[in-house]
This record gives sequence, structure tokens and C-alpha cells, in this order.
Amino acid sequence: MKQKETLLNTMGINLVRASIEEIGEEHVGTSLETPLREDAFVMDDNLKVELIEKHFREIMHILGLDLTDDSLKGTPHRVAKMYVKEVFAGLNPKNKPAAKLFENKYKYAEMLVEKDITFHSHCEHHFVPIYGKAHVAYISNGNVIGLSKINRIVQYYAKRPQVQERLTMQVGNELKEVLGTEDVAVIMDAYHMCVSSRGVNDTNSSTVTSFYSGKFESDEQSRNEFLKYISLKK
Ligand SMILES: [Zn+2]
Repeated sequence: MKQKETLLNTMGINLVRASIEEIGEEHVGTSLETPLREDAFVMDDNLKVELIEKHFREIMHILGLDLTDDSLKGTPHRVAKMYVKEVFAGLNPKNKPAAKLFENKYKYAEMLVEKDITFHSHCEHHFVPIYGKAHVAYISNGNVIGLSKINRIVQYYAKRPQVQERLTMQVGNELKEVLGTEDVAVIMDAYHMCVSSRGVNDTNSSTVTSFYSGKFESDEQSRNEFLKYISLKK
């Protein structure tokens, strides 16, 4: 009887594990918000670097690498610093770009499109790069934003472990909030290293995700105009 219970328990765990692995391999995200713990930023950045360095050294050691080798010696520190201060810096709200708005004095009421914004992110299921282009459009409601700010908003949300759908929506929602308009569109076209360098090893496929709000959602003409500018319209 005892044995049977144990067996069932193990099966339960295996089932949970199977579905967790499926979510990761299929790149399904679970929420619009990045899943962060409440105490995510209690620890300061320097302590995070120190701890990640220690753990990454352990990973390399387990893999059998000789950490006394001059070429490898500094790797745990470099990786830790890169995680905290560069590629995952967008996790921390203190790094969120302040968006300055300007009054639209010349009454430009047409669509503004910024295309081919290069971004680099990381797949949250494999921690390998996702990279590609973002195309963003909005229709001004009287205020305009400095163009470099749009890039910075894309980079901020990209610098997190991500799924592309969530990244696209986070950028779209932030632009709506900052610009005070519903009329925002975002398209992201990206390569996933977890698809190209492992798993199915497909080096050619890219993934396109879109976010349409306000006029871009309700008015086909606005949406087509945007797609025409970024040349994705069939
Ligand atoms: Zn992945």
C-alpha cells in the first residue's frame, strides 16, 4: 500500500514536470506581467553579482571546466555582471526610462512610425538570446515623445527574461500609458536562439507578434497604413 502511494506521488510529480517542460518547449508565457517576487529588489545589485558569480562558478565546475585556467577564471564574474547590470537590467523598475513628452506644437496629427528598432532579449525558458526588430506606431493626441525614448522603452522591456508575446504587449501598454493615447501599434519580428541553435535547429524561421490598440485595432485603414510603412502588408 505504502509503495503504491509512493508510486502515485512520483507519478504526480512527473506529470507536473512534464507539463512544465511542455510550457517551456512550446514557449508559452503565463502572464502579462513579468513574474517577479515581491522581494525582488531587496538585495542590492552588487550582492546579486556576488551571489550569481558564486553559483555560476559552481555550474562551470559541475560541467567539469577548470576554473584555474586563465581564460575561464573571470567568466563567472563577467556573466554575473552581465546578467544584473546589462541583459537583465530591465527587471528593475529603477532602470525604467523616464519619458519626456513634448507638446505637439506643429499639430502633427498623422501616424508616427518608428521602424527597425533593434532589440536583444532572452528567452525565459532557456536563457538564450532572442533578437530582432521592433516597429512601433502611434497617433499623437497632442503630445509627442522623443524618438530615442521609444527605443529606450523597447530596450528596457527587452532586458528581461521574456516571451515575445509579453514583450510586445509590455511595450505597447507602456507607450499607451506614456503617450496618453489608445492609438498604439507594435510589431516585433525576432529570431529565437533556442529554436535555431538547439531543439528543432531551425535557423531560418522568425516569429512575428503584434499589438494593436485604439484606431489600429478598430480601423483597418490605420492598421494597413502602418503595415505598408514597415512593408509587411501582403
Ligand atoms: Zn526558449
